Amino acid sequence: MGALILPPDGSLTTTLADLLSNSLVLRQTAPYLPVSAVYALAATSKALWGIVHNSPEVFRYLDLSTVKSAVVPYEPLDSGGISWRAERMDESLTEDEFYSGPLRGIFSKLERRRLLQHVHTLVLDGLSVPADLVREIISEDRFNVRILSIREVRNLNERKLMQVLRYVVRPSRPAGTPRIKGIYFFGPRDPAPAQDEPSKKKPPPSRGITSSQGAKIGAEWNQKSSNALNAALARTDDKWYQGSGRMMAKRPSLEWAETLKACEGIIFFDAVLCRGPRHDPSKAYISDGPSTSLPNPSSFLNPAIASVALGPSGCETCHSCPEIPAIFGQSPASQFPLLSPLPLHSSSVRAAQMPRTLKGSRPPPLFVRCEECLKGRWCERCHKWWDENCYTGSAIAQRTELQQTEFTESIQTNGTTHLIPKQTIKIIGVRRDCFGCGHTCISCKELFIRRCRTCGNEYCIEDNDASSDTRCDWCNYTSRRTVEMY
Ligand SMILES: [Zn+2]
Ligand SMILES: [Zn+2]
Ligand SMILES: [Zn+2]
Ligand SMILES: [Zn+2]
Ligand SMILES: [Zn+2]
Repeated sequence: MGALILPPDGSLTTTLADLLSNSLVLRQTAPYLPVSAVYALAATSKALWGIVHNSPEVFRYLDLSTVKSAVVPYEPLDSGGISWRAERMDESLTEDEFYSGPLRGIFSKLERRRLLQHVHTLVLDGLSVPADLVREIISEDRFNVRILSIREVRNLNERKLMQVLRYVVRPSRPAGTPRIKGIYFFGPRDPAPAQDEPSKKKPPPSRGITSSQGAKIGAEWNQKSSNALNAALARTDDKWYQGSGRMMAKRPSLEWAETLKACEGIIFFDAVLCRGPRHDPSKAYISDGPSTSLPNPSSFLNPAIASVALGPSGCETCHSCPEIPAIFGQSPASQFPLLSPLPLHSSSVRAAQMPRTLKGSRPPPLFVRCEECLKGRWCERCHKWWDENCYTGSAIAQRTELQQTEFTESIQTNGTTHLIPKQTIKIIGVRRDCFGCGHTCISCKELFIRRCRTCGNEYCIEDNDASSDTRCDWCNYTSRRTVEMY
């Protein structure tokens, strides 16, 4: 959609009302407006008030993460919070009720206006969202939320949330439940749109445009639509489909992995389970008793969330992997994470999972794994990795020299081609040579690790700050100090 052109005379509100009364236009634009702007817009004219309060489209995508009244006012309970809290302590509030107070207030307001049931995508990122409130959103009839985003929320008891999720997906659940289809929880919340890019300059100061609220909202709206257009044009591939490495700030627990397994095919998340062969009891090595030796590198692993994005090219040697890589449109939906940012114009899991590709290009295969399945096989610097078929690996991360036969073509004088075998040594696997670099492949080691000309020790030119091209930080520093002293 293009940017909205504002007429410089006073006809702004009429134009907006005309435009917004078209449900298609409304559906396309409403998600770009913060809730405060929607209400301010409604306050500018009777026509707009009617549109906002009578169109279910306006609240289909509801982002409360930027709404001031959704924030718990005093936190933690300090002296400043006493008055707000004291008022309510008589009503014997539980701690959960206290922390969910502001959101409950908004929900009951929306319910009274019969708007709550139209909310299909609800964004509560960064807010105070106790598990009980999530339970209500998921299981109470007054809600109709399909996609819920609760990333980086506060006061959420994760264990309680997992219990809620396992309960709503229990085999004996009523038909047609749960209505919730997707939950964003594991990834970071979407960054606020950048303000400082040249194409996103603030609109010029009031030239003909009145400073009325309507005009302000209009300008803001103009801004939003042009931001959205810029984002659409500059859109790159999704992080999950690139060699992005670690996708989550902390490693998700075994309990979370088991919860995802219980929800498989019913509720989808912004994370998926690792499908590495070691999680498959029919393929993994299962020991039949306590062993004294090092753990077998192919022993069975409990379910784990795939937290590392490996990029579209697969194993460095065979360009595939033992588990069939997930291809959007072909593989089961449970193999795909919900992608960020949340879709604005649809509340379906498919829309949330669909990778954005250039027009006409097919979505790349998705290679994701848990860290345990990548131990010793994945370079944390360049994200190159080797699968179980191409590198046996060991319990200790190390690099291995591998003899490989490469064939070069040679064309004979009579026109026939001969293949000439040539033995080459390839070094595969990873090792930790530098704490800062993490486990790296041999090419990354050669790029960053040097041998000091003075003391002969290895050092990292990136992570050892005071080092030079030829000397480690210690020798470099010592030689400088010696020069300075004499
Ligand atoms: Zn391979
Ligand atoms: Zn795994
Ligand atoms: Zn590397
Ligand atoms: Zn380093
Ligand atoms: Zn040195």
